[in-house]
Amino acid sequence: MHSILPLPVQPVKPGTSTGQHFWHSTERTLDSYSPVDGQLIARVYLSTRADYDKVIDTAQEAFHQWRLLPAPKRGDIIRQMGDQFRQYKRELGTLVSYEMGKSLQEGLGEVQEMIDICDFALGLSRQLYGLTMHSERPGHRMYEQWHPLGVVGVISAFNFPVAVWSWNAMIAWVCGNVCVWKPSEKTPLTALACQQIISEVLRNNDVPEGVSCLVTGGRDVGEWLSRDPRVALVSATGSTRMGRVVAANVAERLGRSLLELGGNNAIIVTEHADLDLAIPAIVFGAVGTAGQRCTTTRRLIVQENIYEEVKNRLAKAYAQLRIGNPLEETIHVGPLIDKQAVAGYQSAVDEIRRKGGGFVVEPGVLSGDDYDSGCYVKPCVAEADNAWDIVQKETFAPILYIMKYSTLDEAIAIQNGVPQGLSSAIFTLNLREAEHFLSVAGSDCGIANVNIGTSGAEIGGAFGGEKESGGGRESGSDAWRAYMRRQTNTINYGTQLPLAQGIKFDL
Ligand code: NAD
Repeated sequence: MHSILPLPVQPVKPGTSTGQHFWHSTERTLDSYSPVDGQLIARVYLSTRADYDKVIDTAQEAFHQWRLLPAPKRGDIIRQMGDQFRQYKRELGTLVSYEMGKSLQEGLGEVQEMIDICDFALGLSRQLYGLTMHSERPGHRMYEQWHPLGVVGVISAFNFPVAVWSWNAMIAWVCGNVCVWKPSEKTPLTALACQQIISEVLRNNDVPEGVSCLVTGGRDVGEWLSRDPRVALVSATGSTRMGRVVAANVAERLGRSLLELGGNNAIIVTEHADLDLAIPAIVFGAVGTAGQRCTTTRRLIVQENIYEEVKNRLAKAYAQLRIGNPLEETIHVGPLIDKQAVAGYQSAVDEIRRKGGGFVVEPGVLSGDDYDSGCYVKPCVAEADNAWDIVQKETFAPILYIMKYSTLDEAIAIQNGVPQGLSSAIFTLNLREAEHFLSVAGSDCGIANVNIGTSGAEIGGAFGGEKESGGGRESGSDAWRAYMRRQTNTINYGTQLPLAQGIKFDL
């Protein structure tokens, strides 16, 4: 076991940014258990409604100062946060692995994403470009500029307990907003660690109290954020079930929401695929993070002429997987987040059997000394029909459905034939097939890849999906626009007052 300490964490109190004012008006706590070994690793005070209101008031006040700081100065503060994450990468990555259960490499990778988004935000701080346009009136100038929104609420899921917050917070801050983060109730300790790691930077730069806030709790706290008119934007990452409620609550008050929801991602393997690339990509996509990524490969659509070969090669590859303590570097697959997730896996397996689906790689819940927490399952591969209800749903576990096709159009129809639209991929060396898949008649997902799998995105691109995956985009490219309001400005520098559309109004 790697040492989790020393982490600069006093894992007790939610509140605002610099550690000077923490509030908790109740002794009620949220307990965090590690799925790795079942140990209780932290007790975190829960935010009450009164605590929440204080946090939002403080955030609103902080916004009035923070927005006045020039964007490049805000960018420099974020650069310093990136340096802190560099310094504590191993400790934070280890804690992510221990609290959430992903492999140490993935925990470290998650912190690396945080560092990368800090670098991206720094560059963005000298951009945030608006357009200029030509006015139809003489002596007039028109342009647009972007202003911050105010308080941005970030609701995050357990499976990327820290990176998703940073994708949102770093971009929101550089745009001039303040952030209130409600992390998953399943991973509150890593959130407190992040808050603690950046607090020194906030203090050293005299950043007003309230620019970075944390509130702890479950869906009730998430609902306070979504119903609160003081929260200009709610960026919510999690299940489609949660997204529907958040979308309705935010829309009801005509607020803005940015939704990053579930996926049901497929890889198409054509007869022109290089299987030496495809097989490891499929296995990593299906079993990485124990199948608990929004971009996990859940469906495999294989051309009928190579179907048997792919099946055999997958069975061989799965046989080599090592399941166990994710903090050990030789382990490929760690535990599921909790026993409820194991029950979800088990019930999907039962449903596949009821439907008559055969298993290419057998499922199972693991028990015994190394699997004491009761959260370890075997990654499995099942032959299935895309139309089955269970295949149409996202089961957040390492279950891969494999199915056959004969023509590429049929494969694309299967790939698109689910309610979700997050990530997709094709493996082919045939240019026509690849371009058809990427064309308007191809994948309907927010992410479409060629010769790389569905999971693992670079921060430089805009990340998000279509349909029930929520439609939001965050992280790179021009996703920053979701965190700002656009203002169109017309300036008359002449001596006349010509009206638009040639209207005459003589006084
Ligand atoms: P979840 O929906 O159970 O919870 C996510 C967050 O939403 C938690 O903080 C939770 O407290 C909060 N929440 C739940 N109900 C709410 C409500 N009614 N109002 C406000 N907040 C509420 O999801 P989870 O189990 O933590 O995470 C797994 C899910 O997240 C999967 O569906 C996965 O695909 C999705 N996910 C999507 C992305 C993406 O970028 N598209 C990234 C990571 C995870």
